[in-house]
Amino acid sequence: MSENHIEHWINGERTRGAGTRTQEVYNPATGEVSGILHLGSSEELEAAVTSARAAADTWGDISLAKRMSVLFKFRELVAANVDALSAAITAEHGKVLSDAAGEVARGLEVVEFACGIPQLLKGEYSDQVSTGFDVFSFRQPLGVVAGITPFNFPAMVPLWMAPLAIATGNTFILKPSERDPSASLLLAEYWKQAGLPDGVFQVLHGDKEMVDGLLTHPLVDGVSFVGSTPIAKYVYETGVAHGKRVQALGGAKNHAVVMPDADMDLAADHLSAAAFGSAGERCMAISVAVAVGDAADAVVEKVRERAEAIKVGNGTHSDSEMGPVITSSAQERVKRLVGEAEQAGAAVVVDGRDLVVEGHEDGYFVGPTLLDKVGVEMSAYEQEIFGPVLAVVRVETLEEAIELINSNPYGNGTAIFTGSGNAARTFQRKVTVGMIGINVPVPVPVAWHSFGGWKDSLFGEHHIYGPDGVRFYTRGKAVTQRWPQANDLSGASMNFPSSQ
Ligand code: NAD
Repeated sequence: MSENHIEHWINGERTRGAGTRTQEVYNPATGEVSGILHLGSSEELEAAVTSARAAADTWGDISLAKRMSVLFKFRELVAANVDALSAAITAEHGKVLSDAAGEVARGLEVVEFACGIPQLLKGEYSDQVSTGFDVFSFRQPLGVVAGITPFNFPAMVPLWMAPLAIATGNTFILKPSERDPSASLLLAEYWKQAGLPDGVFQVLHGDKEMVDGLLTHPLVDGVSFVGSTPIAKYVYETGVAHGKRVQALGGAKNHAVVMPDADMDLAADHLSAAAFGSAGERCMAISVAVAVGDAADAVVEKVRERAEAIKVGNGTHSDSEMGPVITSSAQERVKRLVGEAEQAGAAVVVDGRDLVVEGHEDGYFVGPTLLDKVGVEMSAYEQEIFGPVLAVVRVETLEEAIELINSNPYGNGTAIFTGSGNAARTFQRKVTVGMIGINVPVPVPVAWHSFGGWKDSLFGEHHIYGPDGVRFYTRGKAVTQRWPQANDLSGASMNFPSSQ
């Protein structure tokens, strides 16, 4: 079989570039190498940034009607190619095909939001602010924007960024995760087919070296990053130190509170789906269930039943509900953290460590795992496991649950299961978390609200997509205008101007 070379997309075409470094890409369900990724050098960085800068001058000046027409065509192409995108995602990420189609659908929502760009970019106008004076404000693109994305949503997270960056008139350079880079090249093809001029959307592959190149390049104006907290912090600090606007979304440890008055079957169904879906590799996965009072025994028993029934297998098989984790080292790390929790006194109610999927003995599988009586000092509580592990922490009151969540350094998402409006309202007002679900475990906001966490889950003041996305990718201008008439040409004063 011929080797699958995964190349860059620079100035409208695929290129292997001059870089000599390569990296293997794996199919996590089988452990086999599926492609050779070409990591870019400073030469590819320079070529991409230079053509992005040149394209920014024309693309940023093109009419909104023309931009919108490209976006509508791109929307149709993504919608028509959900299967191709899902197949590319599953082959390199491992998640089941229906879940991959779900991430494409959520990315498509942002494209649809961006199709309304003329409405989103409408400015403000104040008539006659002083006699004969009007003030109006409008927004213009930053210029060249880079997007650096994680492995867990190889299509959705790039689609959180690029459609809005491009709709607002920027050019966009995507540096996808080196673990599952192929979906980004399909997106590049669709942009080109939609009529996007060359240089407006580009893909540069690489690792830290390429990220550093983008963060320090003088022609890059803004950086959107999504990934783990230590890298998000580094990207934010380095980008800002080099004069760029940066939004950097980090990791998570999402808690779901289960109150004693909750519908326990509903809570258990949704907790299992939110903890084990996509093998727990979602930044909005529920990794901690905080069981309040009497809820604990019922939660543990009902989640146990569901966890044991989950069908784990190759994501391309139609009966699989959960696929492998991303790498063999991720698999080892998840198992180690479960072992450490067990040694520290947690009860391993469902143990996925020894799961073997028949015919896939070299795949990176870990079965759904349920830990009970987890303490906050345990590594399985302190660290983002990013695997199919749900830790149950038992508390006595809602106040204790809120205190636990607010003491956690992460603040991405959280949820409460309850039948009480009062408990839900107290919870939504008191938790120091950016996205909250009430009887909804994975509260990823729809595209016309913005997505973002608090504390160590986001560095920078802009959330991603939605109205904040429009603000992030644009700069405001305010114009004060006066059209003096022949009888009104004087009025200059040495004093600071004030309204008359
Ligand atoms: P990661 O931080 O390892 O990688 C993210 C990106 O940063 C990749 O493109 C990678 O090439 C680059 N990178 C990695 N190491 C780097 C370094 N030392 N210097 C510069 N760049 C570097 O994250 P991941 O493992 O790909 O993704 C999983 C993480 O992303 C989890 O922590 C998850 O919670 C987080 N995530 C957060 C959100 C969110 O919205 N907050 C969404 C998805 C994923």
